[in-house]
Amino acid sequence: MIVPSVATLTTVNTAAAQKKPYVILISLDGFRWDYVDKYKPPHLTAFIEGGVKAQSLIPAFPSKTFPNHYSIATGMYPDNHGIIGNVFYSYEKDATYKLSDRTTVTDGSFYMGTPLWVQANNAGMVTASYFFVGTEANIQGIHPTYYYNYDKNVSSETRVDQAIDWLDLPAAERPHFISMYFSDMDNTGHRYGPNNDAELKKSLFALDIVLGDLFKRVKDTELPVQIVIVSDHGMLEVPLDKYIPRETVKNDTLYTTIDNGTIVSIHPKDDGELENIFNQLQEKANHFTVYKTKDTPHFEKAPTSKNWGPLQIIPDPGYYFSSIRSIEARKASSRKVFGHHGFDPKLKEMHGIFYAQGTAFKEGYTQPSIQNIHVYPLICKLLGMDIPKEIDGKLEVIQGVLKLQ
Ligand code: AMP
Ligand code: ZN
Ligand code: ZN
Repeated sequence: MIVPSVATLTTVNTAAAQKKPYVILISLDGFRWDYVDKYKPPHLTAFIEGGVKAQSLIPAFPSKTFPNHYSIATGMYPDNHGIIGNVFYSYEKDATYKLSDRTTVTDGSFYMGTPLWVQANNAGMVTASYFFVGTEANIQGIHPTYYYNYDKNVSSETRVDQAIDWLDLPAAERPHFISMYFSDMDNTGHRYGPNNDAELKKSLFALDIVLGDLFKRVKDTELPVQIVIVSDHGMLEVPLDKYIPRETVKNDTLYTTIDNGTIVSIHPKDDGELENIFNQLQEKANHFTVYKTKDTPHFEKAPTSKNWGPLQIIPDPGYYFSSIRSIEARKASSRKVFGHHGFDPKLKEMHGIFYAQGTAFKEGYTQPSIQNIHVYPLICKLLGMDIPKEIDGKLEVIQGVLKLQ
């Protein structure tokens, strides 16, 4: 566990903070909106019956892991919070951010907005994280009070044990905001596709046992803990014949390409070549369309960040860009279908989950589908924190889930 020494880090709850409830924000990566109804895992089903759910949680475009976790963390669209893809190019920094590159993932200057743990820290609360996109970066000079660098091999049981140990700390040091992250359903969804009932159910029931253990042990603390469970996106089946080799749209002389599978961004080396590049790409179009960035579909609002680049390539629904090498590896495997996300958030398959339970929440209440940017103001309300003016989320849209509004 890393406990950083930053001057403004809250390591002891203020007297006012100690009177506040506790929030555990759990992200279940790639958990599609319909899995619970379809497979009926007992602990999650009981959790929802005793609390609230949204019909579905709508991601931002592109419906990828990093942009959407950070939208949940900041209440902002990716265009505003800066993490516009799992991979993207930053003109300001002349650097490419990649989820697989520790140097960029931990560099706070890529991350705009005020994530929940920073807002809670600034309100005098101790915070903690067993993984969540952004928590390893120094954002506005702040990490969570207690956090870990991401390691996918840490068992789910270890994550739960640590969360309970945090709640067992003396009141002065006990974190009021805890984030947790489990990637199991995303891994299974990618590998087998979202229609492989046997494999999905197996992963889901294993995860459900871990969550059931967490729910029980949280209850045993008798603390006023509000548990909020979200996912970043859903999953769509992609058969082998719907992969498009990214090499088809590459041209290292004229431009660089940033490929997020469902959106390929073009960064010309010479702006004067833009129309030429646009025309060349259009001529190649086969199950994809080339757009000027401002005309690109699926976005919630016209993108403004320069980092998107001037042109975007969008595959037809259900098609996915990937390298020839990885397409060949898939062909060599025994499986014929896979799963992907990143597509238009209007596709129901891209929707994730919002479930919550605790003394602040109604019981047995269902809220219509909501965008994930609204989770942030809800958590601010739960913890009695100010809601920053510049966020995109709105408390009015989601506060119907609370007993007292
Ligand atoms: P995606 O390509 O959008 O499906 O990304 C999901 C992957 O992101 C999962 O396999 C996770 O292992 C990985 N991931 C999640 N959180 C982090 C993190 N904080 N640092 C690096 N990788 C992460
Ligand atoms: Zn994800
Ligand atoms: Zn994924």
